[in-house]
Amino acid sequence: MAAVSPLEPASFLARAKRIVVKLGSALLVGADGAPRRAWLETLAEDLAALHARADVLIVSSGAIAMGRGPIGYGTRALRLEESQAAAAVGQIALAAEWATVLGAQGMRAAQVLLTVRDTEERRAYLNARTTLAELLRARCVPVINENDTIATNEIRYGDNDRLAARVATMISADCLVLFSDVDGLYTAPPADDPDARLIESVPRLTEEIYAMAGDAGSALSRGGMKTKLDAARIATEAGVAMAIASGRVDHPLTALEAGGRATWFHPRTDPVTARKVWISGSLQAAGSLTLDDGAVAAVQRGRSLLPAGVRAVSGDFCRGDAVRLVDSEGREIGRGLVAYDASDARLIAGQKTHSLPAIVGARARATMVHRDDMALHFAPPEAP
Ligand code: GLU
Repeated sequence: MAAVSPLEPASFLARAKRIVVKLGSALLVGADGAPRRAWLETLAEDLAALHARADVLIVSSGAIAMGRGPIGYGTRALRLEESQAAAAVGQIALAAEWATVLGAQGMRAAQVLLTVRDTEERRAYLNARTTLAELLRARCVPVINENDTIATNEIRYGDNDRLAARVATMISADCLVLFSDVDGLYTAPPADDPDARLIESVPRLTEEIYAMAGDAGSALSRGGMKTKLDAARIATEAGVAMAIASGRVDHPLTALEAGGRATWFHPRTDPVTARKVWISGSLQAAGSLTLDDGAVAAVQRGRSLLPAGVRAVSGDFCRGDAVRLVDSEGREIGRGLVAYDASDARLIAGQKTHSLPAIVGARARATMVHRDDMALHFAPPEAP
């Protein structure tokens, strides 16, 4: 193992005790639809070295890519139900491939298929977490994918980058590595701009960083750079370091740990509570509340959001749903579980607390979003 100083980002990997490694379809499956066995064997050797000193979880795409040939779809574009059917065929071969390559290195693979619902509903989330914890205790290597076959259009992850980030926060990993065919975040999409530079280290996700991401993805993978930054937000806010690195080399983990090309996103150093991690990583905000400047300042000082500070309400949500909290310029500053249904929220937005009973009667509550039910993102970039 290469010696790394604590200041070198690659040390996030060297020091990690629980690591999630996400692999994109294009790495796992060749253009012929067959697994890239030789490369997978080099990865499995790296994983074995890691597993000797840490818990390891894999988030693996590739079910659709491996199933589309055998089911007879070839390489054409697929409708949703065709993708789901291809995944049903391909997932068997994908899981078998992992069992083989991990097994050859003395590791036991355990297949786990998750849907958004399993990570968005608190009870299902806690259930999935308990099972994963037991698999790790038993020294298995969970091999996780989206349960494509039963996920519906509305409740799909749509990409495994975010699923991987959700899994990493769910089981309190300290490091998440996204391997794909890109080696990191560039100052501009490299295909459009020959002067684009790789950014090696992102201490904090800012709007400038988001502006650098294009929407590019390869033919086989659905996750572009934007979804990787979404994953970075979910992970880093929960205290998980994240790397985007190329899997287009043999022994990709050894290369990364030796300081290979990558973008490292630093974890937040004041990780929030487990409940807030769950709120902040929610993917399916049911609506949004626009806060006035005073309310933005108040919630950033740790106060609850009062109805008086809400300027606008959008979406159709129920009490207890996750909503986006946005400032007057439309920037998302955080997420929270809202204490009112959307129709009541519209009635009381901007109203003083003492006037609430007259408007919504017994449904009146002092706060629109209680501070314990709120998770703020990193503070927006400081003014120059
Ligand atoms: N779950 C999909 C599959 O296994 C891939 C999703 C993704 O690549 O993000 O084929």
